[in-house]
Amino acid sequence: MPAKVVATINSTGRQAASFIRAAAAVGWHVKAQIRNREGLVFDELSELPNVEFIEGDLASPQRKQLLDNLFSGAKIAFINTTHWGDEVAIGKACADAAKRAGIVHYVYSSMPDHSAFGKDWRALPMWSSKFAIENYVRQIGIPATFTYTGIYNNNFTSLPYPLFQMELQDDGSFVWQAPFHPDDPLPWLDAEHDVGPALLAIFKKGPNHWKGQRVTLAFEKLTPVQCCARFSKGLGRPVNYIHGPVQIAVSIPSGYREQLEILQDTLGTKRAPYFGPDLEYPREARSIWEGHRGIEEYAREVFPIEEYNNGLRWMEDGTEEGLATPSESNSTRPATPAGHPVQQISGAYTPRSHPETMQGDFFVGSC
Ligand code: NAD
Repeated sequence: MPAKVVATINSTGRQAASFIRAAAAVGWHVKAQIRNREGLVFDELSELPNVEFIEGDLASPQRKQLLDNLFSGAKIAFINTTHWGDEVAIGKACADAAKRAGIVHYVYSSMPDHSAFGKDWRALPMWSSKFAIENYVRQIGIPATFTYTGIYNNNFTSLPYPLFQMELQDDGSFVWQAPFHPDDPLPWLDAEHDVGPALLAIFKKGPNHWKGQRVTLAFEKLTPVQCCARFSKGLGRPVNYIHGPVQIAVSIPSGYREQLEILQDTLGTKRAPYFGPDLEYPREARSIWEGHRGIEEYAREVFPIEEYNNGLRWMEDGTEEGLATPSESNSTRPATPAGHPVQQISGAYTPRSHPETMQGDFFVGSC
């Protein structure tokens, strides 16, 4: 029996890479667009069976040819556009190419446009571009499902990136400062762990099951205070929330600055729900995939590794009760709060997973 053939773009990104790992593991043939053959995630994906890379830049003048090649022979597609390049033009070009190729199930990773809800909420520019693409996909009439992804667990880092910095304190505790009201629920997702299996299940049910529906991929609904409590339990260190403005301590592109400023106003000051007023979570995502990784497990098992891979060594310092204690005095591996050194795990994301992180203006948590 021929394997299912699926197309992806931005294939070293966290969402697509998670899906590729799951699809390749069950024997689907993945046609994976990449910009180049660099980076830790590319190295890892290139070891997988059933993955065929289609190399080329989605922003280049040869885009039509690239996409026709990508979709050729594919029946289903997972498309996650990013802010690199003209996102709307790229998103429309992907949808047009999918239509030409006769794709029978097109899953697009969308986000809401808060200005469309008839309140005094402003559109977050890095989200409303996705909503515009969603509308285009609907207009041209390809059988589609739209995923709405929650905040990635691994947006958190102790590096000084805006919005999701877990700032290490002198006493070994962490502080997360953000403009979200302490009591407002937020959607959480472990993109690397859970996007892949959830998408497999969505594709298996097929387009007739979903009928153009929006599907929330958010497995936990936690206020910032609840999130910090779980993070603290996982890490074995105090983690405190401060309700305050976004702090920008590194150089960021102007588009991201605008996104953060509007996020602070719309989701922070005006307290708009993250996905708008209508979309339910986390019941739907949990009904699709039951094995999610929550923020506590992430903090316990993954956060120290990612931090370690980013050159940070706080996880080796803990000698006080409740803090991480490496079991070997000269350990060069990160330790879990239980004191066990842990091994590198597949797909652990770090800013160094992408070669572009070496550029001064790179940013991670593009939520
Ligand atoms: P990622 O951030 O892990 O990786 C970025 C991807 O963009 C890589 O595959 C990279 O190769 C690709 N890329 C394309 N053109 C590039 C260029 N010119 N320079 C550098 N990289 C380029 O990807 P992801 O997290 O799977 O997807 C990102 C998208 O997800 C963004 O649009 C973001 O808004 C959205 N999103 C993020 C969150 C979050 O919490 N972080 C939540 C919902 C949606």
